[in-house]
Order: sequence, then C-alpha cells, then structure tokens
Amino acid sequence: MLKVKEVRAKSILNKSKIFDYCLNPYTGCQINCTYCYARLFMRRYSGHSEAWGEFVDVKVNAPELLKNQLAKAKKGTVWISSVCDPYQPLEAQYALTRCCLKELVKRQFPANIQTKSKLVLRDLDLFQEFETVEVGFTITTDDEQVARLFEPRAASVEERLRALETIHSSGIKTFAFVGPLLPGNPERLIEHLEEKVDMVFIDKMNYLYSVKGFYHQLGLERQMTDRFFREYKERLTCELKKRKMKFEVLF
Ligand code: SF4
Repeated sequence: MLKVKEVRAKSILNKSKIFDYCLNPYTGCQINCTYCYARLFMRRYSGHSEAWGEFVDVKVNAPELLKNQLAKAKKGTVWISSVCDPYQPLEAQYALTRCCLKELVKRQFPANIQTKSKLVLRDLDLFQEFETVEVGFTITTDDEQVARLFEPRAASVEERLRALETIHSSGIKTFAFVGPLLPGNPERLIEHLEEKVDMVFIDKMNYLYSVKGFYHQLGLERQMTDRFFREYKERLTCELKKRKMKFEVLF
C-alpha cells in the first residue's frame, strides 16, 4: 500500500552533475521500475522503512520554494526529474510539477523533462511558453510485456510513443532515452521512434547487480551479458544511421 506524506522541503532547485540543476517535486516514485537506481539509495537517504514504490513524500512547498530560489540563481538548465518521475500518478492530484514549470517559464530557465507517464501531455500549453525546453520519454524496449514486467506502473510503450508524437508535432523538441536496454526488437523500436524524436540516447543496464535476481527469475540470463548490450547497441545504432536519426551512446 502506498504511503503518501506531505512535507515541506528545504531546497528544491539543486545542483546536478548532468545538467545545471535538478528538481524533484516528490521523494519516492510510484512507477516502481525494477531497475531504478534511485531505489538503491533514496530509501535510506529519505529515512523510509517502506519498500521503493510504496512511499512518496509530496513536497507541497515546491513551487513557492522554487520561486525564491530562482530569484537568486544563475540561469541554467533544470532537469525534471533525477530521482522520481515528475508525472507519477500523484501529480494528477498535486500538480507540483506543473506549478514549478510555471515558475521556470516566468524566468525562462531552460527545462529538460523526462518521464514515463502520458500525464506530461497535460502541460503541453506550458512547454510552448518556454524559449528552450526538451521533453523526453524513457523507452527501454518495444515489447509491451517486457516493459510491464520491468516498469509496472509506467504508461504502455504505445502510449509513450503516441505522447511523443503529439509533443513533437506541436513543435517541442523531444528525445527518447533508450536505457537501460531491455530485451526486444531494436530495429522495430527505432522504426517506431522515427519522426517522433529529435534525439535518441542509449544506455545499458547500470547497477546490474541489483536486478540480477529478477533477470534469473525470468530466465533472461543472456540479456544481462556484455555481449547482449554490445550487440543490441550495434543493431540500434545501425538502424539509427540508416534512418539518419541523431543519437548518442552513453556506454
Ligand atoms: S520512473 Fe524513474 S525514478 Fe521512477 S521508479 Fe522508474 S526509474 Fe525510478
């Protein structure tokens, strides 16, 4: 059962090594991906005894805090989010991501949004007010069954692709984060992404040790070898080149 707690955060705009800043309106994530790297440290860091996916702290003062922090911050790109999905189901009720976007757009801080939820479509009107914004979906496989096993509460692959298409066709820059590479058909995945994204990022399964047991349960031993990741990457990049799509491999 999900334990939801409303909290008041001390800081919401935090320095990041990947972008200038990261912003997490929630601590915890209902999407509960098996491979989530945040599950490895966030539970301990946040002092929760519940399992990852079973608690969410809602930072109810996030928009107000952001407004104050932005007034003093040097302009830079804000990554939403690094250790939670900013459009997890609770966002439909709390709208903290939406209110934070409103603060960012007032000061035109560039935003990079990454999600696995179609709720992101709700904020299309706000994305269009940004001078610089990128919206991306994590899409780890084209196989719905595999996605359901590893990402139990994410939107279906088809829903993610449709959302990307809608965002892209409204003139917003889009990307797909294809990682961690899960079993599927790489050529078909790229075919589905064509004309929906401006950029594709590819990454392997990091922190493999934490999901080894799950792979074994599913009989997917071969799909966690270096050889699998190498071959899968080659097939993806070959297809991307063939279709003249921009990409970056992160491993
Ligand atoms: S959506 Fe992201 S933060 Fe949430 S559980 Fe999945 S990997 Fe972790």
